[in-house]
Amino acid sequence: MTLPSEHSLSDLLELPHTAAASSLSELQKLIDDERARCGSVISIPVAQLSEAQADDVRVRFTGRKSPLQDWLRSLRNFPAEERKEAGAKINQLKAFLEVEVEKFVLECRAAAEKAKLEREKVDLSLPLPELAMGSRHPVSVAAQQLLEPLRRLGFTVIDGPELEREFYNFEALNIPAEHPAREMQDTFFVASQWVLRTHTSSVQAHAMLERGVPLRVACAGFTYRNELDLTHVPTFRQIECLVVDKGITLAHMRSTLDAFFAEVFGRPVKLRLRSSYFPFTEPSAEIDVQCQQCFGEGCRSCKHTGWLEMGGCGLVNVRVLESCGIDSKVYSGFAFGMGVDRIAMSKFGIADLRSLYEGDVLMSRHLALR
Ligand SMILES: [Zn+2]
Repeated sequence: MTLPSEHSLSDLLELPHTAAASSLSELQKLIDDERARCGSVISIPVAQLSEAQADDVRVRFTGRKSPLQDWLRSLRNFPAEERKEAGAKINQLKAFLEVEVEKFVLECRAAAEKAKLEREKVDLSLPLPELAMGSRHPVSVAAQQLLEPLRRLGFTVIDGPELEREFYNFEALNIPAEHPAREMQDTFFVASQWVLRTHTSSVQAHAMLERGVPLRVACAGFTYRNELDLTHVPTFRQIECLVVDKGITLAHMRSTLDAFFAEVFGRPVKLRLRSSYFPFTEPSAEIDVQCQQCFGEGCRSCKHTGWLEMGGCGLVNVRVLESCGIDSKVYSGFAFGMGVDRIAMSKFGIADLRSLYEGDVLMSRHLALR
């Protein structure tokens, strides 16, 4: 049988032209037609009919659209001796239609259900759609990229509290109350004796007091200062390193800095130490790295100086060692630190430091994946 279109099914569901019979032979013809019509319908492959169409079939042959009720009513027109036989024939057809149509409708429903499950089936071999997962923040990426070479150089990476007692943030680091050095840092005072740490150096105080010597530790974390402009934000990340041991000199510091920056830039780079002042180191210096865009010639990124300012360093001030319970006659140490955000800026080509904290996920993702 050819596949029926919507039209041919509705043709098959049309009612017979003759509504009633008045003799046994006329009735037999109606019955034969109806049986053949039903046979054609239920021979349609069930997968080709919708559930609604199957219901139409049921209504047409066994429901309110069935002509059989009219036929039964028309029996009164029959000769009396034929009525019984005619009635029996109609009831026989009725029983046949009910059984066959019901079976057909159930098969249609099962096929429709199966097709639906097939459509909704999950194909586990299909690739997943791309998920908007975001990525790590460029500053986090930069921090990890800075900590990695330090781990290889034998530093232990440690962490400390961001909400800090004034002692660890200032006194332990040779910045007593009323000391003018506190003016260098616009501090967020949270409560009496409590501040948001203004540098990660507070973690060094914890390390010296709690771990003791010898020490070789690195820390990267958020710090907080009350400032906001093109190159300053109220929260920024620092990375800091501390070594305390017997006989530590500036030579150890210089060789560690050379090794660290060579790892960061992937090749040996020229360093320059410029004399400076920090309360927690003596002597102190600013660390400059030769500009990697122009190699000292001078360009826009280095403001035509040939050098990029990276951070600060120095030998640990003996007062800091003593405040943290370390005998400065036996031990000495060096420390260096820098802002991770600045390094992320030069690494990822970010012009405005504030854009690192604007929460633009797409931009962060773009930068981190480059
Ligand atoms: Zn340059």
